[in-house]
Amino acid sequence: MMINHKTNIQNVALLGLAIFFTSCQTDTEAPTVCTGLGAMNSITADEIEGVAGDHVDIEDVFCDNEGLSQVRYDIHSAEGHAHEVSDEDDEHNDGLILHSGTDWSVLRTIELDGTEAEADLHVDVPLTARGVWHVIVDLVDNEGNTATFLSDLHIENSHMPEFSLTSVGGEDPANWHGEPTWSAGTEVVVEGAVTDEDGIASAELELIDEATETVVWSAELTAFEAFSETVTVPAAAGEYHFEMKATDASNAAVSMETGFHVEVE
Ligand SMILES: [Zn+2]
Repeated sequence: MMINHKTNIQNVALLGLAIFFTSCQTDTEAPTVCTGLGAMNSITADEIEGVAGDHVDIEDVFCDNEGLSQVRYDIHSAEGHAHEVSDEDDEHNDGLILHSGTDWSVLRTIELDGTEAEADLHVDVPLTARGVWHVIVDLVDNEGNTATFLSDLHIENSHMPEFSLTSVGGEDPANWHGEPTWSAGTEVVVEGAVTDEDGIASAELELIDEATETVVWSAELTAFEAFSETVTVPAAAGEYHFEMKATDASNAAVSMETGFHVEVE
């Protein structure tokens, strides 16, 4: 009898505490994107299309049950990494993407007000960019609750020469799952093309030892439309970078470089 009585008092006390916390609880609900589904140039889109030398407007409507504070945009090259949230997407995007101008990035914060607010991020895409950039949006409400959203910005570029690879060591790089591994001391045939509307003045391929930044193999291309070069893979295992560079025929100032990471073992 005594025990039950004591238990009841404890229960009543706990219930009271629970009511106290519930009534004093501040907003814990995370803000969200309430842009209509399927909207283009929205963070909810699978991919946002961009063109080098032009601009992109990333437009969204954000909502919060109590009050929005700000939205932070982080746009950076997708080269060489993935985000956990986007892992599922990346499985569908296997294959080599040749990125250029990867040092371009955008960090911007826009202040928001009210329970529903529209934000328009105007982004000028540089002439040097080509490939895929990650767009990460952190949305914050007045109580500090945050929500993160991801999309890809795919940038087309018709200003710079463009490399395409049809075969590397007998494999189509479009079917690669991650970066290639080459056997030390062997030979790897690289086949592809380098094109530009205005023609190509010069182009070269290089294999660079990342530890020492030394060029361990190089070839000046003589055929641009369809080249085939045999790379001598060094005997020393390690991290290497296969670099491809080209210069525009009509404007020597327009040069580009791209490539991929190679593991030699
Ligand atoms: Zn990223």
